[in-house]
Amino acid sequence: MSLLESSQIESSVRALGEQVRPAIIAIDGPAASGKSTVGYRLAKALDYLFFDTGVMYRAVTWAALARGVAIEDEPAVGDLAHALEIDLCSPQPAQQDGRHATVRVDGQDVTWLIRAPEVDRNVSAVSAYCEVRRAMTAKQRQIAQRYGRGDADRPGIVLVGRDIGTVVVPDAALKLYVDATPEERARRRHHELHQQGKTISSEQVLADMMRRDRLDSERALAPLRPAADAVRIDNTGQSADATLVRALDALWATLGQL
Ligand code: C5P
Repeated sequence: MSLLESSQIESSVRALGEQVRPAIIAIDGPAASGKSTVGYRLAKALDYLFFDTGVMYRAVTWAALARGVAIEDEPAVGDLAHALEIDLCSPQPAQQDGRHATVRVDGQDVTWLIRAPEVDRNVSAVSAYCEVRRAMTAKQRQIAQRYGRGDADRPGIVLVGRDIGTVVVPDAALKLYVDATPEERARRRHHELHQQGKTISSEQVLADMMRRDRLDSERALAPLRPAADAVRIDNTGQSADATLVRALDALWATLGQL
């Protein structure tokens, strides 16, 4: 960690003080771009809720696989998406296992189950279905609007996903699009998996990731792409701190416009 960057972060957050800031922050980007890391840290710095919308698509995919619903059966997967009770909450003190949030499906804790390779392989097919997107987008908007109105337990929300700035909350005052080269993103994901004790070649990680990015970018509904007014952050070769400094700079740039 660079001392310069950490002191920049501290002074930038301190200087924000009581300034009026955007209550809804939208962050999009491809897999392993660092969008969740920067989103989580930004949310912590501002005392906002961190909402990783990808977990909802993962939860539907996990439930379909666990309940024997064929992934190719679009109407059945769509019905499942509408019926599931997906719940996100802050981790309990006893759950310090690296989770940013606890994810429950119909009451069952699936926080780690939704990270299984089988979910990774199927989630892009599930998230391309119209009824799945309709159900998830409606829930995400409802939550975002509650925080946007100041009607919630925190002063704001950071939403992270693929279509947040373009579809879910296109009126958000701050939109970021975080990206890095495929090779760097695959290196990061490989490192993450290695740390979790999973054995998979780096070539396989790169191939899986590029396949998922292609499906997410080429689908007809809410494809992954930067909103026209998003601030683009390419963090290839940069630390998480440097990315956060750039996100805070983008936040500062919106303040005069609110
Ligand atoms: O962010 P994460 O990799 O966990 O997302 C898993 C998948 O969920 C993505 O590959 C994409 O297919 C889908 N997704 C989406 N829209 C979002 C968030 C995630 O389609 N807003």
